[in-house]
Amino acid sequence: MASEVLMPSSPSEAVSLFGDGAATTVIGGGTVVMPEITYGRLAPDRVLLLTNAGLDTVAVDGDTITIGATTRVDALAELGIDGLTACAGNVADGEIRSQATVGGNLCVGQGHEAPRGDLQGALLALDATVRSTGSDGERTESLETFLPHRHARLVLEVNFTRPAASAFAALEYPHTHEYTVLAVSGTRTADGTIRLAATGVAGPGARLRSAESAASDPEAAGAAAVNDVTFADDSLASAWYREQTLPVLVRRVLAQLEEST
Ligand SMILES: Cc1cc2nc3c(=O)[nH]c(=O)nc-3n(C[C@H](O)[C@H](O)[C@H](O)COP(=O)(O)OP(=O)(O)OC[C@H]3O[C@@H](n4cnc5c(N)ncnc54)[C@H](O)[C@@H]3O)c2cc1C
Repeated sequence: MASEVLMPSSPSEAVSLFGDGAATTVIGGGTVVMPEITYGRLAPDRVLLLTNAGLDTVAVDGDTITIGATTRVDALAELGIDGLTACAGNVADGEIRSQATVGGNLCVGQGHEAPRGDLQGALLALDATVRSTGSDGERTESLETFLPHRHARLVLEVNFTRPAASAFAALEYPHTHEYTVLAVSGTRTADGTIRLAATGVAGPGARLRSAESAASDPEAAGAAAVNDVTFADDSLASAWYREQTLPVLVRRVLAQLEEST
């Protein structure tokens, strides 16, 4: 294990111990970090273990929802947001979902052989903001702005507004070892705005802006979506197969949103 293991007992202590984050490995649920340490692929000097940091609260104030960083993935179903429930329920298996955290899922890097970070898509579609701390102190920003520099920050909480409708569709594929190959999340707000995002594409989860612009025509939206992202090969699927499948998932999500009108 690491030479220094820090175990904060409050959010403020976690912020203070994280400091500028230099040479610090954060552990949320540890479903990614602990195997890396066990198999010797990661040898951190300084570990910040968030288990007892008090970052696991979920606050619902009217339609405003605030989720602490160490909220477990399986707890998201309790919020009753269809798209988020389906996305969270598609992460790994029950054992991992009861251990894995929202902060860990947002900050996880690309896997060696499979995509990770499914919640990025559902939370991008929900227009979530992230409160985090790092070398320049605390700040709150959109998840989309946060994702590119997530590895240098400590996530404290995620905030979003309950949508009028939400949906999720994933490529169901045998032998994926519980990983999600490709997925699309969508929401519709009370004023009719559609937001779409994908995971399982190259890099972190990404908004599908061209598809959103064409959302009134699902065929056109599906076709446009492939211009919003780039695709990568991995051991689960080829970039080519993902490119063929993304339009189908966009159409399914738009159909689900239409049905919930
Ligand atoms: C068999 C198997 C199947 C899996 N299937 C899926 C899947 O379908 N979809 C999917 O998305 N993932 C999958 N995963 C990967 C992983 O379990 C999830 O991504 C999980 O949500 C990671 O959360 P965690 O809390 O366990 O992360 P951890 O292992 O604790 O951390 C992951 C990364 O995030 C950082 N981190 C953790 N918390 C914070 C924080 N609060 N602030 C800043 N950085 C933080 C860590 O330093 C590390 O870099 C799978 C894993 C396994 C073993």
